[in-house]
Amino acid sequence: MHKHAELPLFVEIGEGAVEVVSILVKDLRAENIVMLSGKTSYKIAGKIVEESTNLTYTYILENRDVVRKLIAKLSYGDADCIIAVGGGRIIDSGKLLASELNVPLVTVPTTASHDGMASPVASFRNGEVFSIFTKPPSAVVADTSIISRSPSRLTRAGFGDLVSNITAVKDWKLSKEIDPTDYSEIAASIAYMPAKMAIEKTPTVEDLVRGLVMSGVAMSIAGSSRPASGAEHKFSHSLDILGIGRALHGEQVGIGTIIMEYFHEVT
Ligand SMILES: [Zn+2]
Repeated sequence: MHKHAELPLFVEIGEGAVEVVSILVKDLRAENIVMLSGKTSYKIAGKIVEESTNLTYTYILENRDVVRKLIAKLSYGDADCIIAVGGGRIIDSGKLLASELNVPLVTVPTTASHDGMASPVASFRNGEVFSIFTKPPSAVVADTSIISRSPSRLTRAGFGDLVSNITAVKDWKLSKEIDPTDYSEIAASIAYMPAKMAIEKTPTVEDLVRGLVMSGVAMSIAGSSRPASGAEHKFSHSLDILGIGRALHGEQVGIGTIIMEYFHEVT
């Protein structure tokens, strides 16, 4: 079976990584660069990107309507590269816009609360959560000195989302009995390894970010979210649908992982 996977071509993780954004967009030969950021993320990271990079527009996204308006307003000539600086909401908006315009996306995450920074999936909460498959980011620039300053609750949630790969991969392996062609050993290993390491030894922020990036890459290789989303994610989505899912995504899937791991152990 032939599968074509688009992957992030450039990943930079480390303290002060944000400084490479300006070099990166030169490499991409981008001339009309649009940056999306949030109010807070602009103050802590967007401003640094703005000062070092020749941006055409900066949009501070107050709500999702702005992205819909941007999609309607911008065409390829207006933007040949999108930079999304912020948390999940901003990055997912960037994925949507970059996919719509068919231009490269550079993500600069300011938090590590879930695996969206490198993944080809954008999730939106509109009463309930729904996910759309998009192009993955072309580049991920994760500055650990910025991410380390985000609330610890967000980083703990990211740990929950990373660890969920363990039960997601186990579920995916089980599905081989129904459809063996859907399973990819490479994607499964890329998702499983950093999750396993994270429960064996407390990860640093850098380890966590690297694991979350690998989850995104695994999803791109698989062409689906299966390596990083199994029954534990269904559990979290059910809480959302029932209207009782008020915790963070990573917190809910972390609890789901404990429950599903128990079922894997007893069956
Ligand atoms: Zn997740």
